[in-house]
Amino acid sequence: MVRAENIHKSFGRLEVLRGIDLEVRPGEVMCVIGPSGSGKSTFLRCINHLEKIDAGRLWVAGHLVGYRQKGDKLYELRDREVAAQRREIGMVFQRFNLFPHMTALENVMEAPCRVKREPKTQVRERALKLMDRVGLADKVRSYPAQLSGGQQQRVAIARALAMQPKLMLFDEPTSALDPELVGEVLEVMKQLALDGMTMVVVTHEIGFAREVGDSLVFMDGGVIVEQGPPREVLANPRHPRTQDFLSKVL
Ligand code: ATP
Ligand code: MG
Repeated sequence: MVRAENIHKSFGRLEVLRGIDLEVRPGEVMCVIGPSGSGKSTFLRCINHLEKIDAGRLWVAGHLVGYRQKGDKLYELRDREVAAQRREIGMVFQRFNLFPHMTALENVMEAPCRVKREPKTQVRERALKLMDRVGLADKVRSYPAQLSGGQQQRVAIARALAMQPKLMLFDEPTSALDPELVGEVLEVMKQLALDGMTMVVVTHEIGFAREVGDSLVFMDGGVIVEQGPPREVLANPRHPRTQDFLSKVL
């Protein structure tokens, strides 16, 4: 579902990604951990082309991200084509960024109505199902300000799912939440994983990575230092940098 080959990305003179190779298979949950500034968010942003890579190749759902290949030449996609690629990918951030003047249900319906121009009754039906799926059937008429952080984040997940993405990216979805609200969001993500969604999850929730992740990637300094089944990496980190990081977070 995702294939990254030798991804490089710099901001000015700062080399943030220095050759990332990885593969996420359909239905797989990949968790990404690593210290602050190691390039985790940047890598996620490259996957949906919010950042343009400087070198390497990136495929999502069989499509080269941001480019079209003809022979051995690459041509940049137009904005419209990039937008079409991005629709296959749902993203959930640390901050929920819901539209404050819309109800929870309207937030979930907004993108499919605006972008896909789907019939409203059909979108509404799907949005109601999604609100139920994230445990918020009774909050469809609430405005974001009337919801807890955990509830808002669950609406944000429903909103991303409303576009029927093939891949979901999560960037520290629980780190802005009060500790008692983290569990309800992780539970929704776990259900999503069990339903077969392909997911890349940047998280500090080691328990989630161990329980739900199919693979665990430890990033440091813009490279993948170590990668493997979560239980193995967590129990027997081979690289000293992984050992050092885990000793601080476990
Ligand atoms: P955190 O755990 O704190 O979220 P991260 O692993 O997600 O960290 P990134 O946000 O990917 O790290 O940032 C990696 C490096 O790139 C940092 O040094 C950051 O300051 C820098 N950086 C990120 N985005 C930009 C940008 N748009 N312009 C310049 N520098 C940037
Ligand atoms: Mg980050």
